[in-house]
Amino acid sequence: MKIGVIGGGQLGRMLALAGTPLGQQFAFLDPAPDACAQALGEHIRADYSDRDHLRQLADEVDLVTFEFESVPAETVAFLSQFVPVYPSAESLRIARDRWFEKSMFQELGIPTPEFADIQSQENLDAAVRRIGLPAVLKTRTLGYDGKGQKVLRHPEDVQNAFAELGSVPCILEGFVPFSGEVSLIAVRARSGQTCFYPLVHNTHENGILRLSVASSGHPLQALAEDYAERVLGKLEYVGVLAFEFFEVDGGLKANEIAPRVHNSGHWTIEGAECSQFENHLRAIAGLPLGSTALVGASAMLNFIGRVPPTEKITALTDVHLHHYGKAFKAGRKVGHATLRCADAATLRTRIAEVEALINAE
Ligand code: AMP
Repeated sequence: MKIGVIGGGQLGRMLALAGTPLGQQFAFLDPAPDACAQALGEHIRADYSDRDHLRQLADEVDLVTFEFESVPAETVAFLSQFVPVYPSAESLRIARDRWFEKSMFQELGIPTPEFADIQSQENLDAAVRRIGLPAVLKTRTLGYDGKGQKVLRHPEDVQNAFAELGSVPCILEGFVPFSGEVSLIAVRARSGQTCFYPLVHNTHENGILRLSVASSGHPLQALAEDYAERVLGKLEYVGVLAFEFFEVDGGLKANEIAPRVHNSGHWTIEGAECSQFENHLRAIAGLPLGSTALVGASAMLNFIGRVPPTEKITALTDVHLHHYGKAFKAGRKVGHATLRCADAATLRTRIAEVEALINAE
């Protein structure tokens, strides 16, 4: 089976690394000449709206998937005429727009921060009067890694905020005084079978994910699975879906979903029986899903801007290096380490060892 992937970054690369042993082949459509997935499959170097090359991709592959959600809707609609596309155009339409996704959470009875649709500064002023400060203004689409958003703490932060985010459609959210951030990696197969990985506790720095630690027996696991099950069913979703939550007052508030394999699930490559990448491929290929059980105590640390020297990382016990082969650049995710240890105490020690390498000059 040959799988077409829209986007040829590290997520595409890790999909191919997981799918190759299953006998799958890959083609990536990505305009970047240095797309890092090209080492693992065919690279169709073209714009996401280039119909000739989209048609070429559709002709060559058995099905198409995505490694990012902001693919133009027309691209998905065009491809869907010729080849099965998973997740569906409708799933992408909802998940890439914060207004649609929060409205869906509300409809499904899933708690969210208070929110309002913002189309103008007047809308924003009125929403701030209703929701209060602090609040977070976010662009409805195209935001990632903390980009396209602004925390409003004082009335003067509000005055120009709509223009400062580019005068594009936005959403205002009440600021959640969360005690932690967790994510649930969920999978739904073409058969309707679902499975869920253990909840992951995530730590961000400057809006970018830094550390993910897989939990074992988290008290909110069942609640998170219930919420995710509602979304998967509503969208008749196929593939991996990442669900991000705020932990607050002993419960969960939904932040956002990502209709794809997710950075907070990278630990599953060595830390779970079957990784999120393999399970995404199993789901879209119509295969049975693999076990999501944790293997030992596991965590993931992102390498942002640079990867520490290979000889130093590989000298550490229980640590698995994933180097994406991308040029180093400040703020860019260029690799990660998965840690898989016998117990939680050892995991804490190993996290400190990797952090020491990250922080060393
Ligand atoms: P997002 O792009 O929506 O995942 O937001 C990036 C990060 O900003 C989150 O991981 C939180 O740390 C923070 N954040 C986003 N929305 C809120 C909110 N409504 N209240 C408090 N913090 C937030």
